[in-house]
Amino acid sequence: MSQSPDIKITAEAPVRAPSSVPVDDAVLPFEVAELDLRGRLTRMGPALDDILTKHDYPPPVGKLLGEAIVLTTLLGSSLKFDGRFILQTQTDGPVSFLIVDFQAPDRLRAYARYDVTKLKDGQNSADLLGKGHLAMTVDQGPDMSRYQGLVALDGGNLEDAAHEYFLRSEQIPTRVRLAVGEEWRGGGDGPKHRWRAGGMLLQFLPKAPERAQRDIDPGDVPAGVEKPEIEEDDAWVEGQSLIATVEDVELIDPDLSGERLLYRLFHERGVRVFSSLGLRAQCSCSRDAVSAMLKSFAAQDRAEMVKDDKVVVTCEFCSSVYQFTPHEAGVEE
Ligand SMILES: [Zn+2]
Repeated sequence: MSQSPDIKITAEAPVRAPSSVPVDDAVLPFEVAELDLRGRLTRMGPALDDILTKHDYPPPVGKLLGEAIVLTTLLGSSLKFDGRFILQTQTDGPVSFLIVDFQAPDRLRAYARYDVTKLKDGQNSADLLGKGHLAMTVDQGPDMSRYQGLVALDGGNLEDAAHEYFLRSEQIPTRVRLAVGEEWRGGGDGPKHRWRAGGMLLQFLPKAPERAQRDIDPGDVPAGVEKPEIEEDDAWVEGQSLIATVEDVELIDPDLSGERLLYRLFHERGVRVFSSLGLRAQCSCSRDAVSAMLKSFAAQDRAEMVKDDKVVVTCEFCSSVYQFTPHEAGVEE
């Protein structure tokens, strides 16, 4: 039996070994106090598989949407209210639109629109997106203001867009890793396909804010002005080099617990983990909501939806099918 190494928590707090039990569909917040780092680690299994399998996407499209889902969990799980975090992309690539809707504390749904004729072998997630923008919306309910952050997608992937967003809008030095994989496991009736994913967000949040300002974007310097020589803070340099060593396979490994992965990365500095947050795939659509939506349409639009003497509406998020008689759909005879 192998000996579990201890997790160093803080000088005073109790010390315990990292749990070796992997937990899927959860976000694990953590802190590396000695380096002023805070982060979150997401591991996804059944909930991700549920969302992607319902749509039967071509694998590269499923992978891209999976990355967007993981990024959403890393960003949305910090919401401290019963709000909504919506991540959307609108771009000129084969995947022209994708949306992930996270409803605090734990509900996720997502879908992507793609042009199958533009899909080619060997396209990565950045190729599938092309150019356009990524929008992140925080909606705290009808009486609260909506917040929207926009960042350009300029031939990069979602990790690049997240870095750009945090640098420009939040001015927090941030690194994000996203990984999505397909797993084949043997079973009674042959190998079974499953989607898995993992991701990590790492942020440098020193008590003295000027330490973080060293990571400012040189692009913010006006043209013609010499770029200032700024040395990054040593703690952040170390944090970035540690997260850069994480392999995709470690992020999605079903047998490696999140706590063990964090220990592997940060044990020399001591890492403290907080309570994890569960995630589940659940759509918020309902027959009543679809019916109300139909009633909000113009009478002529409703009439045009009648086919074979019925009105059929399919939820784009979860593929649920809702069927109405013309009378139920409010179509006048
Ligand atoms: Zn639905």
